[in-house]
Amino acid sequence: MKKKLLGKTPEELKTLAVAAGLPAFTGKQLAQWLYVKRVRSFEEMTNISKAGRARLAELYEVGVSEPVGMALSSDGTKKYLFPVNCPKASGLDAYEEARGNELEEAAVEAVMIPDEDRRTLCVSSQSGCRMGCKFCMTGRQGFHGHLSAADILSQFIAVEESQDLTNAVFMGMGEPLDNYDNVMRAIEVLTADWGFAWSPKRITLSSIGVIPNLKRYLDGSRCHLAISLHDPFSEERASIMPVEKAWHIEDVVRLIRQYDFSGQRRVSFEYIMFSGLNDSKRHGDALIRMLRGLECRVNLIRFHKIPGFPYESSPAPVMEAFRDRLGANGITCTIRASRGEDILAACGMLAGQHGKNKES
Ligand code: SF4
Repeated sequence: MKKKLLGKTPEELKTLAVAAGLPAFTGKQLAQWLYVKRVRSFEEMTNISKAGRARLAELYEVGVSEPVGMALSSDGTKKYLFPVNCPKASGLDAYEEARGNELEEAAVEAVMIPDEDRRTLCVSSQSGCRMGCKFCMTGRQGFHGHLSAADILSQFIAVEESQDLTNAVFMGMGEPLDNYDNVMRAIEVLTADWGFAWSPKRITLSSIGVIPNLKRYLDGSRCHLAISLHDPFSEERASIMPVEKAWHIEDVVRLIRQYDFSGQRRVSFEYIMFSGLNDSKRHGDALIRMLRGLECRVNLIRFHKIPGFPYESSPAPVMEAFRDRLGANGITCTIRASRGEDILAACGMLAGQHGKNKES
């Protein structure tokens, strides 16, 4: 299996170029082609000698995976399907260490959401997910493996809108903080001057609260954070989100309070509203107590009905009353618009199977 160059730093690219018998400055040229011009083949790297390109192609792959499917929603949202080979082991080098027969073939989805002058890409970080949230289609399908940094970055490069993307959210398939090294490497490439040169303000990572890696993320990055909260009561949250048994939401919020979100960096809390489950006044009051004094936003999300799932969304008037109650108590709260529902691209609906019944 050839090494993929996508996801490597200029220094690592230099080492690989020298190992292939090319001059050291080829490392910088490769970074330019990969991250600025975003080419898909060595052929296109025209300032590297023909012999040099041939040698690189012999030893390495560029690493961009092309989508194998695309669905277009009536609201302009696009869902792309990418094939991936996932090693189940964690870590940045897992791909390189894994031999072919240890890889599992799978697929992931990325969703491009247009909104006035914004083009946001919602990317996947794992194929499937092992967090097992009861309301999530990805969670139901189980875990197929971690994406490499190359597979995460491919989603940015291979979509038609690559050069027009304005924002990224790590809210697709998988729990990004369960694949920490690869996600952080992708973020490094997105934000480095030698990479995509995006401001960290353009990136939001969404997590259900894997505390040890959440702390590393808060210390090691300046990107925004979204926490999937969904229920302020520990026992109830544990019944829909098994992660609560390992890391309590109260401890997640306690950790977040230690960081400054009054400036450029933002934290938001996602709250899917399930009818009769987490949408009462009691829940609203507990949420207000939990978040009081924290500079944050709460996004209320309608639950998108999925066949075979026992949940119903709260009706609009209940959601509006919940929003108003939080707002009246000083918590910025909005009802998030649903996008791409007709192509199963909305929150909780991704499953990595194109145009089929997504349940597994
Ligand atoms: Fe995994 Fe997120 Fe789905 Fe939970 S909601 S199972 S963390 S993808």
